[in-house]
Amino acid sequence: MSYPAQKLYYDGKVQPATSGKTFKTIDPSTAKPFAEVHTASPADIDAAISSARKAFPSWSQTPPIARSRILLKAVELLRSRNDEIAKIETRDTGKPFSETSTVDVITGTDVLEYFANLVASGGLNGETTQLRPDAWIYTKKEALGVCAGIGAWNYPLQIALWKSAPCLAAGNCMVYKPSEVTPLHGQILAQIYAEAGIPPGVFNIVHGDGAVGGYLTSHPGIAKVSFTGQVSTGQKVAASAAGGMKYVTMELGGKSPLIILPDTDLESAVDGAMMANFFSTGQVCTNGTRVFVHKSMKAAFEKRLLEKMECVRALEPMDANSNFGPLVSEAHYKKVLSYIKHGVENDEAKLLYGGFSKPKKIPSGYENGFWVQPTVFTDCTDSMKITTEEIFGPVLCILTYDTVDEVVQRANNTKLGLAAGVFGKDLNKCHEIIGKLEAGITWVNTWGESPAEMSVGGWKLSGVGVENGRRGLNAWVRERSTLVEGSGVVGTVFAKL
Ligand code: NDP
Repeated sequence: MSYPAQKLYYDGKVQPATSGKTFKTIDPSTAKPFAEVHTASPADIDAAISSARKAFPSWSQTPPIARSRILLKAVELLRSRNDEIAKIETRDTGKPFSETSTVDVITGTDVLEYFANLVASGGLNGETTQLRPDAWIYTKKEALGVCAGIGAWNYPLQIALWKSAPCLAAGNCMVYKPSEVTPLHGQILAQIYAEAGIPPGVFNIVHGDGAVGGYLTSHPGIAKVSFTGQVSTGQKVAASAAGGMKYVTMELGGKSPLIILPDTDLESAVDGAMMANFFSTGQVCTNGTRVFVHKSMKAAFEKRLLEKMECVRALEPMDANSNFGPLVSEAHYKKVLSYIKHGVENDEAKLLYGGFSKPKKIPSGYENGFWVQPTVFTDCTDSMKITTEEIFGPVLCILTYDTVDEVVQRANNTKLGLAAGVFGKDLNKCHEIIGKLEAGITWVNTWGESPAEMSVGGWKLSGVGVENGRRGLNAWVRERSTLVEGSGVVGTVFAKL
């Protein structure tokens, strides 16, 4: 193996798993294993939770400004090691370095900086209400306790930061389980937090599959579960959390509509649709995979899209010119290919570009990796499998429409509600349409940007709660309300015979 074995991290130390079991992490660009990872046993998870419980009283009582100073030190360390960490993320996910070095580490670190600054500047303040001249109510925001974070594989470090940043800033401790497909960032992040001054037990990492995640999220020592993953897994995790009345945040899948109005500048329409489908090889939860193009624009849109498909460059992942990597794992590769095959053979959509054979120009030495072609289907209908199920790969489906009312109704005709977007010149029209779309994350004339300041979360089956923005902090606290009577007279009905 070309990379050191990854162990667990709890109580401020790298710890071997007691299960005696390990699994391998695979470089998706070559399909070669490159690191051994320790699988946590139930006893290891108990130990990680117990180290977090031990750390909680002191960390939650540390003044927010002091917690903030430590987290800002971690921000500095993450930024100083940006390229080194990005290289590791490229190895683990297969994403081009041009992407991991400019998006993954940066957008995760920005969120850490945002929440560190927010808690240092009154973000955890409560309210005071004067009830009567001599009676007051004050509310305080208090930390929840030990929280579980469960990450998906598409933005490994970014997801770990989006969860741990508000969690720790609010005074909680965390036990985090990365996806077993992309575990490498875990130990690095834990060590950076420790170097910044986070006390032992405040941030912990356990590794393993769904069974490890299941044991962690249903543990009675856990106060909250923040989960990112598929709807079906989220439903299981939320159901088991409900048994223990745990707080939950669920960031799940989508099948998001991108509506292109007839007055849209053609170049913007094509650029938006490509970013909404091919960035990160389509492995983005908010992807706009149902591209609704007005009938009058269809021919021009398809022509320009086909010309621009040549700008998708599947090169060696560390090549600065690469902007398209392989899919993350063999299982996911097979899943995406089966959708493309279904689109051709069963849905009978028209294949405009790509398909289920491997890309023609895979870089030499990378032939066994999990590469697929960026794929475009057109003449799609609303009932096809490729337009109704989340593929989570680089598959763009073009659907045409006549009227705004029709497209809004069709865009909303899904159980999912993660993201949606509108492209058009008339901003008032765009806002009006956005107001009718059933989705928690929406864009006008752009796609995909999700900065720290923007609260994001899905509607319908796509999730519960939000991450980021000011509202993102509230997901990590509970409120205590206290009524103080200052008159010296206790309100009672039992004072007289
Ligand atoms: P999965 O649901 O398969 O897995 C997500 C995480 O849950 C993994 O760490 C997994 O472990 C773990 N897990 C699996 N079973 C259980 C269980 N019973 N209890 C607790 N944890 C469990 O999702 P993917 O990893 O395939 O991620 C892709 C999905 O994530 C897509 O649907 C995508 O839309 C969604 N996503 C949503 C985002 C959002 O913000 N809304 C952002 C990013 C992705 P292991 O992998 O080791 O089995």
